[in-house]
Amino acid sequence: MIDRLCVIGVGLIGGSVARAARERGLCREIVGVDRDARNLAEATTLGVIDRGSAAVSAAEDADFVVIAVPVGAVGRVCGELAPFWSDTAVYTDVGSTKLSVIDACRAALGTLPPNFVPAHPIAGAERSGVGAANAELYAGKRVILTPDPATSTLACERVTAFWTALGARVSAMDPAHHDEVLAATSHLPHVLAFTLVHLLGRKDEQAEIFQYAAGGFRDFTRIAASDPEMWLDICLANATQILTLLQAFGAELNDFADCLEQRDATRLFEFLSTAREARQRSLERMDN
Ligand code: NAP
Repeated sequence: MIDRLCVIGVGLIGGSVARAARERGLCREIVGVDRDARNLAEATTLGVIDRGSAAVSAAEDADFVVIAVPVGAVGRVCGELAPFWSDTAVYTDVGSTKLSVIDACRAALGTLPPNFVPAHPIAGAERSGVGAANAELYAGKRVILTPDPATSTLACERVTAFWTALGARVSAMDPAHHDEVLAATSHLPHVLAFTLVHLLGRKDEQAEIFQYAAGGFRDFTRIAASDPEMWLDICLANATQILTLLQAFGAELNDFADCLEQRDATRLFEFLSTAREARQRSLERMDN
């Protein structure tokens, strides 16, 4: 049982952690920290947190601290936490990139504390804010821990137990490998969705285009409704991996364009069929 859970950044992900922890009876009290007083008032009214504060010092007496701000803000939050950092508490985060978070935490605190466990729940939505928080967000979803060699085993065990109690399936990965894998499965798809809507949305005839948009457009672009501030941070934090994939993607597009220019039906059919089969195989793996 956690005595005092502190969630820093009471938005979709942090609010969902708070809701899930409360619903499962994992903690006695939940303290929220957020820079926006209206957001804290809403979180309190909704019963997501017991009390809120604009100051990170509210984490002082917490025994479990979840940092759930955009990845670009983690360094600042760790710096503000430094004077109150407790050796007996456990600190974790939920950021979508891991090397940047580890570097930011190390830079802010001078060293990477053994009781900070970098983590990433592979669960979310294109909605943001505490109003979208949901106690079941993590049920059956994966959470990846990316401990550093300096990270304490006991802290990892406590964070694993926490996410497991929220219904998640926890595994561990090297932070660099995490950023490489997520660049392919999450960051590139978001960049492609944002780019397509950016292209079509610029055209004068956009009103007509969107009027005739079919289900495929809606499915493909759903994630382009995600929060630009959060995605700015993710893109900058994982720029190297995303750029590598964008180059590979550009080569694929050139291949496709070449097939079209040649009106090469055989190569085009092979391209489409190979992609379809790969999609089928990936779905089977996702279900496992
Ligand atoms: P969100 O709904 O926008 O929530 C972020 C919260 O952090 C907001 O309440 C924001 O306040 C607050 N905040 C921002 N900077 C702050 C600071 N310096 N100090 C205190 N609070 C601050 O975003 P989210 O979707 O929950 O994302 C939070 C984290 O989860 C990000 O690191 C993201 O990479 C990660 N994540 C997101 C998803 C997803 O699908 N959304 C999935 C997995 C992981 P304001 O309202 O004032 O901006």
